[in-house]
Amino acid sequence: MIPSEFEYCRAGSVEEALDLLAQKGPDAKILAGGHSLLPAMKLRLNSPGAVIDISGIGELSYIKEEGSHLVIGACTTHGDIAKSTLLSEKIPMIVEAAAEIGDVQVRNKGTIGGSLAHADPAADWPASLLAGEAEIVLASSSGERTVAAVDFFQGLFTTDLGENELITEIRLPIPDAYTKSTYVKFEQPASRFAIVGCAASITRSNGSCDKVRVAFTGVSSTPFRDQAVEQALEGQAPSDDNIEAAAEKAAMSVEVMGDHFASQEYRKHLAKVYARRALQAVLS
Ligand SMILES: Cc1cc2nc3c(=O)[nH]c(=O)nc-3n(C[C@H](O)[C@H](O)[C@H](O)COP(=O)(O)OP(=O)(O)OC[C@H]3O[C@@H](n4cnc5c(N)ncnc54)[C@H](O)[C@@H]3O)c2cc1C
Repeated sequence: MIPSEFEYCRAGSVEEALDLLAQKGPDAKILAGGHSLLPAMKLRLNSPGAVIDISGIGELSYIKEEGSHLVIGACTTHGDIAKSTLLSEKIPMIVEAAAEIGDVQVRNKGTIGGSLAHADPAADWPASLLAGEAEIVLASSSGERTVAAVDFFQGLFTTDLGENELITEIRLPIPDAYTKSTYVKFEQPASRFAIVGCAASITRSNGSCDKVRVAFTGVSSTPFRDQAVEQALEGQAPSDDNIEAAAEKAAMSVEVMGDHFASQEYRKHLAKVYARRALQAVLS
């Protein structure tokens, strides 16, 4: 349980963190809340030569409105997001996802950027960020780029993040007043990681569901938007029958995971149940 030897570097600014990443090369690892990296280092699943601590960079911790978007700094903790009245008013599923993560210690230290970079298939964030059509801002010493969440997650613990890149910000378009959203999950009882997590965001007009976004985490090795569910409900009235028919299509297009917490068959069943619960909650 003791990590191998590493050099510890503390970055005081984004610029300094990017310089350190460029200097130290692929052997360096960013340290944010440490709730995923440190256990991996102690188990020697990860043995970086250098650790660049970004937890003290104040400019990476914020939640604010910027034009048509709500933006969240990468080092904002799950706990601060769970307490945000701005997010709660505009995009409730984001606050609900944050409040569901781990326990109070995990929420007080763990960061949204760290969770996204780690890309645990059972992490909570991906579902609501996919359903919210979020973008992720990545910076390196050679510039900045923005990636849609749907392109960011690429597989089990795999993302589009380059070795010399830092996640700096998460950007969410502010939905109109006719949009409601929620995040619901079936959790692993000890850690509270998602066995199945489902986020739904629905815009209604004239008695029908105009725009439907449904996304899952925990179900497959890569979090995903479930277009079969979305399309089944789009343009339809929000009736119980239509909700049921849409939820029945959940997780049909992906390879569903099976493990000692939930078999493939049970997870597939849970995906339908949690899709139905999310849709009912949003449309009730
Ligand atoms: C007991 C326990 C219970 C938990 N329960 C849940 C749960 O219910 N749901 C859930 O979703 N998660 C859960 N987690 C995980 C937790 O949310 C972590 O906080 C999160 O996965 C990692 O965030 P961190 O800030 O601690 O990142 P760190 O551990 O510091 O880093 C994780 C990885 O991300 C990289 N990284 C960190 N920040 C950045 C950045 N800005 N740019 C680029 N790379 C970066 C690091 O190099 C490392 O590879 C749990 C963890 C524990 C220990």
